[in-house]
Amino acid sequence: MSKLFVDGKWIEASSGETIPVLSPVDGEVFDAIARGGAADVDLAVKAAQRALDGPWGRFSATERGRVMMKLAQKILDGSEGLARLEARDTGKPLTTARNDIQVLARYFEFYGGAADKVHGQIIPFLGGYTVSVLREPHGVTGHIIPWNYPAQMLGRTLAPALAMGNATVLKPAEDACLSTLKVAQLAVEAGLPDGALNVVTGYGHEAGAALAGHPGVNFVTFTGSNEVGTLVQQAAARNAVKCVLELGGKSPQIVFADADLERALPSVVKGIIQNTGQTCTAGSRLLVQRKIYKDFVEKVAEGFRAVQVGTPDMDLDCGPVVNRSQLDRINAMVEAAKRSGTPILAQGQLAAGLPGGGYYVRPVLFGDVPRDSALAQQEVFGPVLAAFPFEDEADAIALANGTEYGLLAAVWTENGGRQQRVAKAVRCGQVFINCYGAGGGVELPFGGVKKSGHGREKGFLALEEMSTTKTLVHFHG
Ligand code: NAD
Repeated sequence: MSKLFVDGKWIEASSGETIPVLSPVDGEVFDAIARGGAADVDLAVKAAQRALDGPWGRFSATERGRVMMKLAQKILDGSEGLARLEARDTGKPLTTARNDIQVLARYFEFYGGAADKVHGQIIPFLGGYTVSVLREPHGVTGHIIPWNYPAQMLGRTLAPALAMGNATVLKPAEDACLSTLKVAQLAVEAGLPDGALNVVTGYGHEAGAALAGHPGVNFVTFTGSNEVGTLVQQAAARNAVKCVLELGGKSPQIVFADADLERALPSVVKGIIQNTGQTCTAGSRLLVQRKIYKDFVEKVAEGFRAVQVGTPDMDLDCGPVVNRSQLDRINAMVEAAKRSGTPILAQGQLAAGLPGGGYYVRPVLFGDVPRDSALAQQEVFGPVLAAFPFEDEADAIALANGTEYGLLAAVWTENGGRQQRVAKAVRCGQVFINCYGAGGGVELPFGGVKKSGHGREKGFLALEEMSTTKTLVHFHG
C-alpha cells in the first residue's frame, strides 16, 4: 500500500481511505494507493511553503542543479526496476517503459544542468539609474499529470519547476502513480530538502480539484483532457494564478505524392500505435494526396496487419490500454464509425495466450473517413488511425487545420518550398518535416494552440514558464 509523500515523510491520507490499483494486463487488483483529498493537499502546500522559507529556498541555483543531477543518476541506476514498475502499472511494453525512464532521467539532467544558466537582464535606462530584471520562482507550484506517460510527465513538469527554485506539489493520475512515488523516494536519497517535492495521490475531483484551487498555490501545470483542463483553469483563475495547459490533439501526418514514402511509412504506423495510441501527440489523422492515396494507404494497411498486441513482458508493439473506461471509449468510437459505414482497411493482431480480464484492443485503420465525422474530429486516445485523401496543398492545409486541436503535425514532401509553406500554415505547436517525433525531445519547446492548450513545456521555454520576473529600478545618481 502506497502512502502520500508530504514534507519528506510518508503519511496516510487523512480520510484513511485507499484506492485499489488494477493491472491493465488482467484487470486484477495488485496494490493500493492513498486517497488523498483537500486536507492532504493543504498539508502539502503548507509543507512546500515552509521549504521555500527554509533550506530549499536558500539553495543556490548550482546546488539545486546538483541535487537534480544526483536524482537523474539514481533514476538511471534503478532504471530497470522503475521500467518494470511503470510497465506493470500502465500496461506498456517493457521497451517503451525502459525508454520512458531514460527520458525521465534526461529531464532531470537537462534541467539540472540548466538551473544555473538562466540569467536576468540589465536594461539601459535614464542617467543615474541601474535597472535589472531578476528571474524568480513562482513559489509553490501545483502539477497535475495524466496516466499515459507518468514517468515522462513527472520529469517534464517537475524538473524545470525545481530548477527554477519552486517548491512543488504533484497530483499524479489515480491510474498510474507507482513510478512517481518511487521517484519521490529517490529524490530524498539524492538530497532534495523536505517539502520541495510533495506527492498527493487521489482522485481528480478530490485531490486534483483541491490542488488547482488552493489559494497557496502560485502556478499550476496541467496535462490531461480538455474538459478537466477547463476546470483547472477556472479554479486557478479564481486565485488569479497562471496555468500551463497541455491538452489533447488530433495531429495530422500530411503525405504528398512526392514524399519519400519508404521513410514515411514506418513513421505513420508508429506515430499512432506508440503507447497503444494513448499519446496526446499521436499522429491520428493520415492525410494523403489523392494520386498516391490508394497505394500508400494499402502499404499502411499492411503495416497495421503486422502490429501485435501483448502483455508488457511479451514486449510487442502495443500493450493493453490503461483501464476499462478507456477500452470502452475506444471500442465505442470504433463501433460508431463502423455503423456509419466508414470502411476498416486493416486491424492489428492480439497475441495468443493473453490473460482474460485485460484491456486489450486491436489497432484499426479506417479509410475515406468523412471530414466532419466524430472519428475525424475527436481524439480517440487509442490505436485508431483515420485516413483521408486530399487534392492539393491548399486542401491539405484546410484539412490539417480542420479540427479544434492544434498540437503537432508532420509534413512529408521532397519539395523544399512546400515544406516551409505547409509547416507555417498549419496551426499547431510543433511541426516535423520528413520525420515524426511523437512527443519530441526534452530540448524542444512543446505545447499546443487552439483547444490543445497554451503555454510551453520542455526546452528552455519551460524555465521561463516556471518562473516570473522582478524588475529592480535603482537610482544611485
Ligand atoms: P484527465 O483530464 O481525466 O486526467 C488528468 C489528470 O487530471 C489526472 O491526474 C486526474 O486525476 C486529474 N483530474 C481529473 N479531474 C480533475 C479535476 N476536476 N480537477 C483537477 N484535476 C482533475 O485526463 P486523462 O484521462 O488522465 O488523460 C487523457 C487526456 O490527456 C487525453 O485527452 C490526452 O490527449 C491528454 N494528454 C495531453 C498531453 C499533452 O501534453 N498535451 C499529454 C498526455 C495526455
